Amino acid sequence: MHRQGTMPDSFTSLHAIKACTSLSLVPVGRQIHAHLLTLGLHTHVYVATCLLHLYGASNLFQEALRLFDELPHKNTVTWNTMISACAKSHAPHQARALFDLMPHKNLVSWSAVISAYTQSGHPKQAVRLFREMQLSGLKPDEVSMVNVLTACTHLGALALGRWVHALSRRIGFDPPIVALGTALVDMYAKCGCLSSALQVFERMPRRNVLTWSAMICGQAMHGLGKEALDLFEKMKAMTCLIPNEITFTGVLSACSHAGLVNEGLSHFRSMEEEYCLKPWIQHYGCMVDLLGRAGLLEEAYELVKTMRISPNVIVWGALLAACKTHRNVKLGERVIDHILESKPSHEAMYPLISNIYASAGKWEEAKRVRDLMADGNIKKMPGCSLLEVDNVVHEFVVGEKLHPQIEEIKSMLDEMHKEVRRSGHKPDTSQVLYDIDEEEKEHAVGLHSEKLAIAFGLLSLSPMIPIRIVKNLRMCGDCHVFIKLISEAYNHEIIVRDRRRFHHFKQGSCSCQDYW
Ligand code: ZN
Ligand code: ZN
Repeated sequence: MHRQGTMPDSFTSLHAIKACTSLSLVPVGRQIHAHLLTLGLHTHVYVATCLLHLYGASNLFQEALRLFDELPHKNTVTWNTMISACAKSHAPHQARALFDLMPHKNLVSWSAVISAYTQSGHPKQAVRLFREMQLSGLKPDEVSMVNVLTACTHLGALALGRWVHALSRRIGFDPPIVALGTALVDMYAKCGCLSSALQVFERMPRRNVLTWSAMICGQAMHGLGKEALDLFEKMKAMTCLIPNEITFTGVLSACSHAGLVNEGLSHFRSMEEEYCLKPWIQHYGCMVDLLGRAGLLEEAYELVKTMRISPNVIVWGALLAACKTHRNVKLGERVIDHILESKPSHEAMYPLISNIYASAGKWEEAKRVRDLMADGNIKKMPGCSLLEVDNVVHEFVVGEKLHPQIEEIKSMLDEMHKEVRRSGHKPDTSQVLYDIDEEEKEHAVGLHSEKLAIAFGLLSLSPMIPIRIVKNLRMCGDCHVFIKLISEAYNHEIIVRDRRRFHHFKQGSCSCQDYW
């Protein structure tokens, strides 16, 4: 049409830009944009909104913003498109600023900002805004429900998640559509309530591969390896759904948590042979972890060396952790060479390396790694634990000072330490990296964030309500023993989700049976 000399109008341009968006053809879209500039059509509100959508979907945030600022007229869809572009580019504060400026907000606007907060790791703000939306009298739709449930999942906020579930039923989303049901299954599983996850799962009239995967991953995280694998078999036998990479993440981690080496190996092979799925780095991570923890260190090392993608620090880290567990310093040092060669920016790696040297008593090497860490300005990610009490999520970091009840919490913790010492437990200080003297080390593990959170939980929750904690890092061995003893001494159920899995502590033992 262009070659024949017919001038496009706003209507034809609009459809041409939409086509570019579906085909991700940004350069062609830019040409059309340039052409529209010469025709003076680029600020036409519908055309401009389509261009914003194209730039937003292609992560060209700055270009979108420039165009947006030029527009003399904007309608609600234009504003919403720009907010979604902010969400996509992980700019939640800009999304919020635009949201606050826009004259007529609708449900889509609220949902877009909530999603911006959720996707960029600000779950607390997402929940707060969801509540504001409710107070404003708007009825949430399924999209905003899914977003706020994702936020609850990050926070481990079970009570809040339950409230959203109840709200969704009141509004009439019952039984839930696939996306909402899947978000509910995922929320319940990751907030430590597997029975509710199963209930939602079983009541769903339709499920897709993500629903099954959420349930399988959930069971794996709770250490129910066999149940997860049974569910996987059921999915293959009863549905015509084809497992994807996420399903296999659940399947392989189920094998890894349950120590099922042969099953793990055969599922890992079937990924490519039966389903033509190329393993992701996470799958390799699971396999290395599985082999490593079973003590098959050489096999794990072989697998890493023959990987078709270059191993990242998580894979090396899993192998290194296995070397530490099985006290194989020789292989550990080979692994460390590989890691240092790749100059990891991953802050978690250096403490692990320093740790393996320290546990072998090689203080000089440990110090060298620590100096490397200091030079590169690499700091250990601080441990952080979340605990929900009366719908408020409390956050604790190691050596917490800011919590309003910190004095009470500390004296409770002292009490707990005394209780535990009476049972003959001595803190395992090999978790502390530095060759500081024993007393100081004892002090540092004594204040790990999950211990503080549990002290607060014991102070504020009735013994009938389990203490549910979400921790951002893997739990250390000392905390694990400590929590087992506390669950018995105070007759209180404690559930901890760490970076890898769930631990259900009850009457002095843990659901992982110390295999984690
Ligand atoms: Zn600890
Ligand atoms: Zn455990």
